[in-house]
Amino acid sequence: MLGRRLISTISHQPYPFSRIEEYAENGEALEVQLDGLDRARIDELKTGVLNRFSAFIPFEKGKASCSLGEGDTPLLEADPSLKKDTGIENLWIKDETRNPTGSFKDRGSLLCLWMAEEMGESVLATVSTGNMGHSTAAYAARSGKRAIVFVPEFAPMEKIMPMAFYGGRVYRVQAPSYAEMKDRALQTASQCGIRLVTGNGPIRCEGYKFLSFELYEQFQGQIPDYIALPVSACGHVRGIFKGFRELMEAGFISRLPKMVVVQAAQNAPIVQAIKSESGEILPFPVKPTVAEAITSTNPPGGSEIVEKTKTYHWLAETATEAEIIDAHRKLARGGFFVEPSSATVLPALRKLSANGQIPRDARVVIVLTGSGMKDLSLLSQSARDIHTIGLEELEKVLTKNE
Ligand SMILES: *Cc1c(COP(=O)(O)O)cnc(C)c1O
Repeated sequence: MLGRRLISTISHQPYPFSRIEEYAENGEALEVQLDGLDRARIDELKTGVLNRFSAFIPFEKGKASCSLGEGDTPLLEADPSLKKDTGIENLWIKDETRNPTGSFKDRGSLLCLWMAEEMGESVLATVSTGNMGHSTAAYAARSGKRAIVFVPEFAPMEKIMPMAFYGGRVYRVQAPSYAEMKDRALQTASQCGIRLVTGNGPIRCEGYKFLSFELYEQFQGQIPDYIALPVSACGHVRGIFKGFRELMEAGFISRLPKMVVVQAAQNAPIVQAIKSESGEILPFPVKPTVAEAITSTNPPGGSEIVEKTKTYHWLAETATEAEIIDAHRKLARGGFFVEPSSATVLPALRKLSANGQIPRDARVVIVLTGSGMKDLSLLSQSARDIHTIGLEELEKVLTKNE
């Protein structure tokens, strides 16, 4: 294994790999730095992306234990209707809804589990409104560890019941806001010497970067021009980009894709900061959005994303509630049943291609981050298209010509 440490993502200060806190004292996000990546090689003969790219994992080899089969998700060409809708001809879909608990969070949860194993920790603690708690509870169950999940009081029961069903301990925390609850949970865990993992933790990003390795293989060594995804805590976007940075450091690729940061217009602290003169992140007032999984109103460590957008010429765009609801249905009509937050990318891409920020011939990947199965709230209108019939009508409906 290569030498490893954590470094802060803007001022590049080193921290021990074992650090319990997820952020530097000055609030910057941390990331794993691996020595000797220029010599890292891909083990082409192995099956499974974690095994082929094991040189990029900051843990001892042979840690394949406790996998639930995460990653190795399909890359699919988008259908003509989605291409037409976005105005992008070379449009691809990376389907992360196929992960074991229905979202990309599983990639990060596995690596966090390995971290806990290495550090001899028996508890996987997290703060979540849904997918992360679900994923953490599943991996805790798989490994015989205990999951502690703090959820805001507003988290819907149908989202949090599965966490308890896996055997996780779920606590609904009464607090003035989710942001405040997260701050206090991080603070308290640090005082207790307990590692509490949030969506922007450095070890989670180590799992997320494997999506990039898969794209590298699936495009046969070519690199997409743009990768669009919904952003909240910011761990996913920086994890994916880190994967490409490491492939470049290892000499496998010679250029980097541009990330497209997408948020709901109702809650867009990062996109707003990117588009502002100052680049400063101003906390967003809490407003409801159907994109429930992307509601960080003031994401800690988010300045890294604003900085990277400038340095690497990323793009940023929002989607309104009406646009999200429309895109949610369009994706289903294209064969993809996602949760509403994942649908934000479609209208965002349409705007960016319409105003020329994304060239028509660019190769663009949409990351579908989470499955629609866990959030059925927008489906009630479909009831209109479900009909009750008698046996004598079977023939009529089968032969109806429309
Ligand atoms: C967590 C999540 C996101 C946001 O990812 P971050 O790493 O928090 O930026 C987007 N979509 C879904 C479905 C998620 O579960």
